[in-house]
Amino acid sequence: MPDAQGGRSEPLVAVLGGGQLGRMLALAGIPLGIGFRFLDPSPDATAGALGLLVVGALGDETALAHVVEGAAVVTYEWEGVPSDGARFVASTGTPVLPPPVALDVAQDRVWEKELCRRLGIGTPDFAMVDDRAELEHAVKEVGLPAVLKTRRGGYDGKGQAALHEPGDVERAWSQLGGVPLVLESHVPFDRELSVLAVRGRDRATTCWPLVENHHDGGILRHSLAPAPGLTERLQATAERLVGQLLDELEYVGVLAVELFDVHGELLVNELAPRVHNSGHWTIEGAVTSQFENHLRAILGWPLGSTTAIGANAMVNCVGALPDPGAVLAIPGAHLHDYAKAPRPGRKVGHVTITAADADELRAPVARLAGLPGVDVPA
Ligand code: AMP
Repeated sequence: MPDAQGGRSEPLVAVLGGGQLGRMLALAGIPLGIGFRFLDPSPDATAGALGLLVVGALGDETALAHVVEGAAVVTYEWEGVPSDGARFVASTGTPVLPPPVALDVAQDRVWEKELCRRLGIGTPDFAMVDDRAELEHAVKEVGLPAVLKTRRGGYDGKGQAALHEPGDVERAWSQLGGVPLVLESHVPFDRELSVLAVRGRDRATTCWPLVENHHDGGILRHSLAPAPGLTERLQATAERLVGQLLDELEYVGVLAVELFDVHGELLVNELAPRVHNSGHWTIEGAVTSQFENHLRAILGWPLGSTTAIGANAMVNCVGALPDPGAVLAIPGAHLHDYAKAPRPGRKVGHVTITAADADELRAPVARLAGLPGVDVPA
């Protein structure tokens, strides 16, 4: 069908959310002839440069009806999309993929953990906390150190408080109390990993190699892919657990699972039913990117290979972008500017460095780390 750009843009994919993930979906899909429409509450949503932007709340039925009209499929790029909105869209007959149930699970840390438990997948010990007395009880049950988190609405480390000793309970409660909470045991992990899987409409499934992730202040700062020292056993363990989640959720599209690696045992931290920051390296570093494969999956097209090409480092630009010329002077560096206004703590872009192997990655990553405004340990 003709869209705002005037030319042919079929099939049309409607995306709920218009941030950088939507923008990168479009950057992958436009060469395949896919047209895009986005729904976002902000008129400045960065994906709007690549498709028609409908400005409205993500749960607003009028705005939803507008954005999905004529779409072959609807997807989302933010797990905070109200699942009622996604269900409303599905009720109009347009497929919503991944299925809205994935939003229900990903939006509630307790449901997420209960699902994992039911499937026999490891998670940190946890207890629900709805009032002050339950917090005392949960501390006894889970033990210290622990992390108190809001059940819903937390992201990038927001809505969390660390508890090291009994004296921290009062502070954590005054910081977060009043909404449903969950207390999790603090996991003494060796490292954080993520597994990204993609499943097509025909149930064909493939995973990218595990990624090693480094956070600071709850925000992902950089990722290494494939994860250093990745063994076939660890990859197989992660693929097994993500496969169980895909089955259970009758999933189609990309699913990211954040993991704690504790001496080779994998515990699930959280699920993201969408393309994920720890998969940005796949744009240049894998045969098929997470963005292209997500689109292939939801449109019922064959999936592409998820094999990694060499070794890759992805570094987030948080708050501001480094000088583009300085980045691009580094061999193997690829700059992604999300065209977002700089603001402290905001992800405004990323850099991926590709190299033949982990040894060859070191020098360009050290050079990137030396640039002003780049926050990554050399
Ligand atoms: P989240 O928003 O749950 O992904 O948490 C943000 C970051 O906080 C994680 O990537 C970890 O670095 C840290 N974190 C969260 N939960 C725990 C936990 N139970 N044990 C140890 N570290 C945690």
